[in-house]
Amino acid sequence: MVGVGTVLDGGCLCGAIRYRLTGPSLFVSQCCCKDCQKATGTGHTTIVGIHKSQLTLEGTPATYTNRGETGGSVTRHFCGTCGGRLYTSGDLPGEFIMVQAGSLDDPGSVTPESVIYLKDAVAWDHFDPAIPKFDTMQPRENHAS
Ligand SMILES: [Zn+2]
Ligand SMILES: [Zn+2]
Repeated sequence: MVGVGTVLDGGCLCGAIRYRLTGPSLFVSQCCCKDCQKATGTGHTTIVGIHKSQLTLEGTPATYTNRGETGGSVTRHFCGTCGGRLYTSGDLPGEFIMVQAGSLDDPGSVTPESVIYLKDAVAWDHFDPAIPKFDTMQPRENHAS
């Protein structure tokens, strides 16, 4: 959880793109889906869900759009120079986006609250046993829109 009014700065590896995120977050999750594995080259990605209006950007990310598992379009925003992943947007309710927690200047400032798409997780990836895990998306019933 990123608290109300908390400001977090981040950017890509080379520094060409910088951003500022303002809390509150909607969720912080580890996503194990196949697309995240391919897009990041890792077992899972850690994402901070916020509304688009909570992110200010300096610089113009490159994008790649494909179809997500539920059929909607998913656009991944990244630095065209260094390839650093920044955030994901798409046909998502409430104009929310998912910022890659690893691109924060201090990734330790967020704490994952759930694991999603566990059905795609690889055997060598391990997760906090104390947080809830979902085979696909996490139900969003407790999130204000
Ligand atoms: Zn860069
Ligand atoms: Zn994913």
